[in-house]
Amino acid sequence: MIQVSTGDMLRAEVSAGSGIGLQANAVMAAGGLVSDDILVRMLASRITRPDCLPGFILDGFPRTVPQADALDAMLAGLGKHLDLVIELAVDDAALTDRIAGRYTCSNCGEGYHDNFQMPLKLGACDRCGGAAFTRRADDNRETVGARLAAYHAQTAPILPHYRATGKLKQVDGMADIDVVTASLVALLDGVQD
Ligand code: AMP
Repeated sequence: MIQVSTGDMLRAEVSAGSGIGLQANAVMAAGGLVSDDILVRMLASRITRPDCLPGFILDGFPRTVPQADALDAMLAGLGKHLDLVIELAVDDAALTDRIAGRYTCSNCGEGYHDNFQMPLKLGACDRCGGAAFTRRADDNRETVGARLAAYHAQTAPILPHYRATGKLKQVDGMADIDVVTASLVALLDGVQD
């Protein structure tokens, strides 16, 4: 299954300087949520592409109740359904430390962290040897605070909707990476075709 990340799609629009990118840029930099109208249109055209036929993992969508309702309607129209909704539960303070310190290799995308995952040789990527690294503009403490506030006010309210369907599973995101990975794999393995 491919990963469909609305954040990645929006960052691509910003880099391309498209109309959507121009509208989204300031909102993303401030840690707010881009309009439902833009997101729903973007997602509808993405999940009807052929590479989504075998199934897909939505990352960062839906983030509001109207987006969740639009997703239900979209999937019903395509004759598809959600198998699982996974809530990765992490304390706000831990999340802020994780996000504010993370960066990636500009060449191969390998992930690093200022405190938790430094390259073996500082300044060189362990995987490809690249010397250039990238940090997301919104991965700073101030913006993370706004992103978390948006999560609690606008995204957490979608949880009861999915809890009622019995498809919502919670994974303890405070656990070690290996444990989180094993929990996610077990949940995916449990999905019936
Ligand atoms: P992410 O890469 O998922 O952390 O998303 C980065 C930013 O893109 C968010 O802080 C929002 O500004 C915007 N964004 C991504 N997905 C959505 C969405 N489903 N609805 C609204 N805004 C979104």
